Amino acid sequence: MALVNFKQMLRIARKGGYAVAAFNPVDYASMRAMVEAAEEIDAPLIMQTSAKTIKYYGHEPLATWYEQLASDSSVPVTLHLDHGKDLDMIRKCIETGWTSVMIDASDKPFEENMKITRQVLEMATPAGLAIEAEIGEIGGVEEDIIVAEEDAHLANPDEAERFCREFDLGVFAAAIGTAHGYYHGEPKVAFDLIDEIYRRTQTPMALHGGTGLDEETIAKCIELGCAKVNISTNLKHVFVDSFVQYNKNNPTDYEPLKVLGAQFEAMKELFRSKMTEFGGAGKGASMLKEIKESP
Ligand SMILES: [Zn+2]
Repeated sequence: MALVNFKQMLRIARKGGYAVAAFNPVDYASMRAMVEAAEEIDAPLIMQTSAKTIKYYGHEPLATWYEQLASDSSVPVTLHLDHGKDLDMIRKCIETGWTSVMIDASDKPFEENMKITRQVLEMATPAGLAIEAEIGEIGGVEEDIIVAEEDAHLANPDEAERFCREFDLGVFAAAIGTAHGYYHGEPKVAFDLIDEIYRRTQTPMALHGGTGLDEETIAKCIELGCAKVNISTNLKHVFVDSFVQYNKNNPTDYEPLKVLGAQFEAMKELFRSKMTEFGGAGKGASMLKEIKESP
């Protein structure tokens, strides 16, 4: 059984000084490609669905695909909800087989964010799910969530400490200067803030907006406290570009399975390279063993 506990996964990654890659699948093939890639290089994996993807397919197909692909995989794979905002959607994720959920009430004032996060924790904990929650506001565009540059703001370390003392989170998303989508200009990652927040909370942190950050920046974030790195925009581009490129290279070939095959290989290559970059390669089977043996 490789459907594992999200919180344990991230605690083990943090202890081992690496991060688990979290990709947002867009269909069955992208889910299968990420699991195959993870198995090939023996890396743990977080499959995280955007709210938009759930609205498109419904909860059940996604949960079924996950279960089918991950239940006997050789590496740990979790099914996470990315940027959950709708409590009904979150409840249904908990009921249909997600292994963790994110509540993103970061656009609300801090006290209200706390109140909503508490509600989600109270729904998730009895079902054995861990949660991710966010403070500060991460800029950029993530699916339907658009945060203008002037509204984006960094997390306050005092609030971060209070938040993590109050809630036992699987992973903590604090706005630390990264943004969703492609970066326009040089990203300004607040390394000192990551360092301070991690030291004061001792909670593994999630790095949102991983697409477009260079290797050195990501490595530093992982060293300072990030145990989950999100890659969404990269996949969107590889998904579309690989399809278009195949047609450009083979303009008379109308065999759909060949096009899908080329797209599948391109996605796998992206997944393998990111999981390796974040330090997860070679860690999957041992993590699974540690999770199984823990009480
Ligand atoms: Zn995000």
